[in-house]
Amino acid sequence: MQTLESIYRQLDLIRIQKKMMVHAQLYEESAALRKTEKELMQEAETYEKQHKLTLSKSKYVRGLQCEKSLWLYVHKYKEQTFSDAQEALFQQGSDVGVMARALLPNGVLAVAEGSYPGFASAAYTQSLIDKGVTTIYEATFVHDNIIVAVDMLDFRDGQWNAFEVKSTTKVKDTHYTDAAIQYYVLSAHLQNIEMYLVHFNRDYIRMGPLNLRKLFTAAKITAHVKDMQTGIPQKTRDLKLNILSEEPVKEVGAHCNTPYTCSFYAYCHKDIPEVPEVTVPMEEGETYINVEAVQEYVQMTDYPIGFLDFESIMPAVPMFDQSRPYQQIVFQYSLHWQLSADSAPEHAEMLASNVGDPRLQIIPSLIAHAAKLETVLVYNASFERSRLEEMAEDFPQYATALNDITYKLLDLMPVFRVWYRTHSMGARYSMKVVLPALCPDLNYDQLPIGDGVSATNAFMQLYHEKDEVKKAAIRQSLIEYCTLDTYGMVRLWALLKVV
Ligand code: SF4
Repeated sequence: MQTLESIYRQLDLIRIQKKMMVHAQLYEESAALRKTEKELMQEAETYEKQHKLTLSKSKYVRGLQCEKSLWLYVHKYKEQTFSDAQEALFQQGSDVGVMARALLPNGVLAVAEGSYPGFASAAYTQSLIDKGVTTIYEATFVHDNIIVAVDMLDFRDGQWNAFEVKSTTKVKDTHYTDAAIQYYVLSAHLQNIEMYLVHFNRDYIRMGPLNLRKLFTAAKITAHVKDMQTGIPQKTRDLKLNILSEEPVKEVGAHCNTPYTCSFYAYCHKDIPEVPEVTVPMEEGETYINVEAVQEYVQMTDYPIGFLDFESIMPAVPMFDQSRPYQQIVFQYSLHWQLSADSAPEHAEMLASNVGDPRLQIIPSLIAHAAKLETVLVYNASFERSRLEEMAEDFPQYATALNDITYKLLDLMPVFRVWYRTHSMGARYSMKVVLPALCPDLNYDQLPIGDGVSATNAFMQLYHEKDEVKKAAIRQSLIEYCTLDTYGMVRLWALLKVV
């Protein structure tokens, strides 16, 4: 049996010869070459199928990002790891695709429920087209042993319109790459195709029931993806040959996170030591304190001092009136405060219920407790500041009081990023690292919810959870997590005061 590379080489040669024959008007000779070309293409296809070299849109995009990632995906699939945030993002993308189908109702789904697009859904798509079905969801096509599915395919006025739905608020470069490989395959089957990218309209503000025609917007991208066709055949061949090779050697680098965080990140980075960004030379067990800077920072504060933290959700589809796609919606706050340097910390918190807009439950309580404070310490102020500003804008009746809190914010994070460091913090300076390093009795590891992403997911889970006992446990975990964030700041503040 020939190698795939030699079949590809012969195909290239035949195609060059064919062009020359046509140019010289040697049509019979050209027809003979066409026969050989067809046989070679069949041989290539058989070889590719036998060696599991079928590409999909996602494999193609993965291979463009890193050929090793594609190789690992085919040969070491189980080595992948996904964070909760990545899992949630995949689910969100699929939910949004389903929701957008209402823009073109009464279509037929080409992919069996719970399955991925494949040769069977491609055959079914063709049968639907043959029957005259004009709207097809997950319409699947195969060409060059590449399988692609478009979210919605619609035939109207002699024109095929292919719609790819993305849960973003704009067209990104990677979307063009996706659409270009889709167009490459689609155009081998259909004529007269327009490609559209459907995404969220970032200016849509929900008021009342969702208006899908305003929530989504469609960008026509046909011209752009047509311009990207030239290199695709060669690239897909390279990727298929790469799959046949030994495990590629590839240094880790920026491409591991761009445009997507690679699912083999942990696999490739397991032996790579973390490089500290903050370069204060320290021995093991040593603590570095810039006394003058810390003392200056402490003098910038006034009592009563508050320690504030928000938790938020960021629904792609606006859940509440007066909110936009992907707007951060605060659902919980924790606030500790000290009236004077010697007084014991006091605490207030609120975790919204899952009925109604959480912000409208949080805001009055927050204002009531924060009004008396002179300084409000937060860890990474840009987050709390942005949320306060947004709430002030969305609910003008509370704007004055919320802006008043914003003016009092002071960020604790820079202190522990630069002036107060321990060797054990390495390059990191998040609360999850700083707190256990300086106050070993406080640790997020002991909590069921130990980071912001888990808190977001937990609050969203409350909307679906029916079991009241589980709901109560989730709410208790959320309270413990947010409370530790602000109590942790109280303890860090206590260290700064005595520098
Ligand atoms: S982690 Fe980086 S080097 Fe490794 S497969 Fe992924 S992109 Fe390639």
